[in-house]
Amino acid sequence: MSEYLNNIKPLSDWMVSEQEPFILAGPCSAETEDQVMAVAKDLVQHKKVKAFRAGIWKPRTRPNSFEGVGAKGLPWLKRVQEELNLPVAIEVANGQHVEKALEAGIQIIWVGARTTVNPFSVQDIADAVKGVDIPVMVKNPINPDLQLWIGALERLNKAGIEKMVAIHRGFSSYDKRYRYAPHWEIPIQLKTALPNMPMICDPSHICGVRETIPAVAQKALDLDMDGLIVEVHPNPSKAWSDPKQQLLPKDFFQLIDQLQFRRASSESAEFTTRLETLRTLIDQIDAEWITKMGERMKIIEEIGVYKKENDVTILQLERWKEILETRIPFGVSNQLDNSFVERILTVVHDESIRLQNQVMNQNKMEKSEKK
Ligand code: PEP
Ligand code: MN
Repeated sequence: MSEYLNNIKPLSDWMVSEQEPFILAGPCSAETEDQVMAVAKDLVQHKKVKAFRAGIWKPRTRPNSFEGVGAKGLPWLKRVQEELNLPVAIEVANGQHVEKALEAGIQIIWVGARTTVNPFSVQDIADAVKGVDIPVMVKNPINPDLQLWIGALERLNKAGIEKMVAIHRGFSSYDKRYRYAPHWEIPIQLKTALPNMPMICDPSHICGVRETIPAVAQKALDLDMDGLIVEVHPNPSKAWSDPKQQLLPKDFFQLIDQLQFRRASSESAEFTTRLETLRTLIDQIDAEWITKMGERMKIIEEIGVYKKENDVTILQLERWKEILETRIPFGVSNQLDNSFVERILTVVHDESIRLQNQVMNQNKMEKSEKK
């Protein structure tokens, strides 16, 4: 349990009415005043859109990419707030950004994924917001580290921030199905540790491409997230940053009109949400044990080679007995049925023998080829 984060205000205290999702939309980057005003004027038409997002300081992986228009964009965003009465959220990465955002009267700030990883930067931001009543959203760190995410939330709360939102935007990974793999178990763990922390999902950065955004957005809502932050651009393919993942306003409207906001309705919707949460945990556990089984079988093959080199038989009865004698009671102590554990061990052992046989035969074949 955290000694901080006990006074977090629910979204319904400061942003949306009870049961309403918190939806922010807007371009990845503010590019020109016309672009900002055009997309904001479209977005404000939809009653589900509660705030406008746009980046003016953009963290880019390599230099010489577009790094945002900087403070020059602040008056454009002020116009959105004043003329359209739509609160604006921008990313801040240091104390100076915070000061400029506060001077301009920007209503919401967020800490980006590349900043959450760095406690010095987060502390700099926390020092700059001390004593100011501004909502702060914190994206998950780019690496799958729950403690860093919680730590950033704590630093800001310690500085007096009570209007907070955690944003799930995915994690760097080798899983190429996503730009940033969702690792759904991590936001679930955050929710479990901090049940009062509002959490929204950023499907745009998770997906990296437009096509898969609806499925990820729906999954986030099914996991009981409180809203979404989505990148929307008047001409996505010409966007100065993230062109592949931004949606046209009309496609974004279609998306939010089609999504099922389950938490607003009946008990059975709650059931679906809970079921989805539990299934996500099961998915993760299965991914873990299958990965581990793959690692185990690689070692089995290595042992096979070693046995071959030393002219030792594949079946080692003593070792097999020892495995049964140690693993079965261990399984029972983990509330598993003993015959279930024995059946699993037998299947695994059979497969291990099959693999080692393959290794032996392979070596034989190599030798006969050399002859
Ligand atoms: C963004 O929202 O445009 C952005 C840069 O996000 P992240 O920090 O999640 O990469
Ligand atoms: Mn972006």
